[in-house]
Amino acid sequence: MLTLLLMALAAAPISDSLDRGVSEELARERAEALSAVRYDLAFTVPVSRQQPVEGTLRLTVTLATPRRIVIDFSAPRERIRSVRVGDDAVVPQFVEDHLIIPAATTRSGDNRITIEFTAGDEALNRNDDFLYTLFVPARAHLTFPCFDQPDLKARYTLSLDVPAGWETVANGPEAGRETSGDRIHVRFGETRPLPTYLFGFVAGKFSIERATRNGRQMRMFHRETDAAKVARNRDALFDLHASALAWLEDYTAIPYPFEKLDFILIPSFQFGGMEHAGAILYNSASLMLDESATQNQLLNRASTIAHEAAHMWFGDLVTMRWFNDVWMKEVFANFMAAKIVNPSFPTVNHELRFLLSNYPDAYSVDRTAGTNPIRQTLTNLNDAGQLYGPIIYEKAPIVMRQLEMVVGERPFRDGLREYLKKYAFGNATWLDLIRILDAKTPDNLAAWSRAWVEERGRPEFTTGLRLTKNNTIQRLALTMNDPLRRGLVWPQRMRVTLGYADSQKELAVYANTRETVVREAAGMPRPLYVLPSGGGLGYGLFLLDEESIRYLLANMAHVGDALTRGAAWVTLWDNVLEGRVAPGAFIDGAIHALPDESDEQNTQRVLAYVSRAFWRYLPREERAARAPALEAALRAGIERANNTSLKSAWFSAFRDDVLTADGVSWLERIWRRDEKIPGLPFVETDEIDMAMELAVREAPGWQQILQTQLDRTQNPDRKARFAFVMPALSADPQVREQAFDRFRQLENRRREPWVAESLAYLNHPLREADAERFIRPGLELLAEIQRTGDIFFPSNWTASLLWGHRTPGAAAIVRDFLAQELAYPERLRWTVLSGADDLFRAAELSAR
Ligand SMILES: [Zn+2]
Repeated sequence: MLTLLLMALAAAPISDSLDRGVSEELARERAEALSAVRYDLAFTVPVSRQQPVEGTLRLTVTLATPRRIVIDFSAPRERIRSVRVGDDAVVPQFVEDHLIIPAATTRSGDNRITIEFTAGDEALNRNDDFLYTLFVPARAHLTFPCFDQPDLKARYTLSLDVPAGWETVANGPEAGRETSGDRIHVRFGETRPLPTYLFGFVAGKFSIERATRNGRQMRMFHRETDAAKVARNRDALFDLHASALAWLEDYTAIPYPFEKLDFILIPSFQFGGMEHAGAILYNSASLMLDESATQNQLLNRASTIAHEAAHMWFGDLVTMRWFNDVWMKEVFANFMAAKIVNPSFPTVNHELRFLLSNYPDAYSVDRTAGTNPIRQTLTNLNDAGQLYGPIIYEKAPIVMRQLEMVVGERPFRDGLREYLKKYAFGNATWLDLIRILDAKTPDNLAAWSRAWVEERGRPEFTTGLRLTKNNTIQRLALTMNDPLRRGLVWPQRMRVTLGYADSQKELAVYANTRETVVREAAGMPRPLYVLPSGGGLGYGLFLLDEESIRYLLANMAHVGDALTRGAAWVTLWDNVLEGRVAPGAFIDGAIHALPDESDEQNTQRVLAYVSRAFWRYLPREERAARAPALEAALRAGIERANNTSLKSAWFSAFRDDVLTADGVSWLERIWRRDEKIPGLPFVETDEIDMAMELAVREAPGWQQILQTQLDRTQNPDRKARFAFVMPALSADPQVREQAFDRFRQLENRRREPWVAESLAYLNHPLREADAERFIRPGLELLAEIQRTGDIFFPSNWTASLLWGHRTPGAAAIVRDFLAQELAYPERLRWTVLSGADDLFRAAELSAR
């Protein structure tokens, strides 16, 4: 069947239709037919960024039989200057963003294709005196003609012709250079096999630091002008790279796979880092730290470096076959980074950090009707951006930790070694890895992977506790349900915590069937609470029994360790959303417990939950009734906090949640600088936030407050942003309507964070009733927003549009929209369903 299909493809006429971007079908066809791909690339970079970058490509590719060769290149007709196959000039065919070399001009064996072209600027990140490429996930074809898919790995030979005084760095080592006049010509040695998204180069005015660690010379390219700052950071940066590489060589039993390692610090880089093989790019600000750097910043820096270093094996040496497995490389990089870095930061509660930075965000999507599996289908690389979200970033790490626990630490490492060795310099899928690991465990990993990775959603757990006459446990069991009724079971290691007056018992269980009996519990005294998410381990919705809920809400301060408390709060919040805990009772419990909370991570998380309960789940009258007590508790928290970051967390919660006239006027005095909070200095961004919160509350003189803040703001970017958001804060509904109508034009949506902030204020809970008129048109714009915006914009837009709404009427608008849009793209439908989850729940609770 497969062979027949491929023959049909090979025989297809060249006029065959081709999609824009790289479709899965095109990628498969090319991966089958093409081999031994080599790119010999030369770029000439002019001194002025207004002048185009010109390029020449000498492409070598081996064919089994003569056939058409489809090459990706954006706007090919305008940018191609000449094409030759061998020594013959060829007129290619142009379809969408492809150019097609006709079958008649090709032959079996090696084909040499020479293309002269003008490079597009979109992926070149050109600045006045430097540029850097960023081709992930499939943007190389915006710059040069190529096969822009991850499983056609190729060797690259690069030469760059740049203005004198510029430095250059690329994946391969420098092989030679000539200077002539005001130009330098640099040649780089041929690389090992790489996918297009990992090929890259940087050119421009940079300073270079060099150091040797463990016998390896490394270079750091940077543009920092503060010499003291460079001197303070340079050794630490080289050391962090060296220790990460050494750790990874040991763990993988594979020496660093590339010829050399350089790293380049880019000002205002889009990401934290990008793992170009042998030439890692970083955001300069997160690596070059100030003297005042916090423990958290140091931990984040070390984690970023370890993450990118891990990619040299996970992603670069072995690459996913298709971008539906992009999550794998990201999860492995984080997983390794935690192993490498965490032991050097003993004062941080890493398990709590893992819990709070992954579970709540993963649940925020996985509990909704709009959730998606970790592994998704992807029919065209143009849509690769839509794969990203909390399921990849936050659920996948939880799943990977479970996998290691199920397989065992040693066998897991051995499995990874085997996988890296077997697929070195090639490609592999998630299923290839699962097959290797499956051989190392009696568990059925294919079934395990289906529930966790291939399907969407999370399990639902209930506990059954039976007591004997003399009040000891006769039987404790966990029941696991699939709320989507597919009969799935999510095998997982869990710890069930039994709470007593001044101690806890943690019982380890492996839940791999519908019912799991906690055998160890039998005979133990009756507990005050049962928490199946103990140790922050279990993943799912844990429906707590009433007695446990009551005890935890009243006595969280007596729960002995921070990790159990963190897990209990995350679980209690889920029970709020399920209607089993009243939002007001949750707020009371938090106010009662927080003064005794010793871990700042828990305080931050609980304050965020309180804010959500307050705005999204309390009816208006109850909100007003509870405001004085909440504000008093938050102000007490500000006073009590013994460090700046904790003080700031309490203050931010006050600023966002304040509702009473007294509270608002205190906030205003702070904003006017009439009153100070000892130990909490404010910077420009803090005052901007305060002014906006005052305005949306229509504090007396709100117009003057906004105008004063605009005048006060010094930083030009922040000033422009504030001016943009201002109309959304107006008390005049007509001004707000205009503020919304702006977003219909693409040019008014370019600054996406500005738009999201404006939209969120337009739909603030205090404007709920008036803002209902924005819901329908906001949803109607979503499809266009997805087409024209960045990858996270559709979900941010939806979240900002819906966060302030909680009525059944608002919920009906969303449901009606989805019901009428029958042909709505499935992924966008999911975005709406996820974004509307709180609204649906709140509406349902209020209708009860
Ligand atoms: Zn990464």
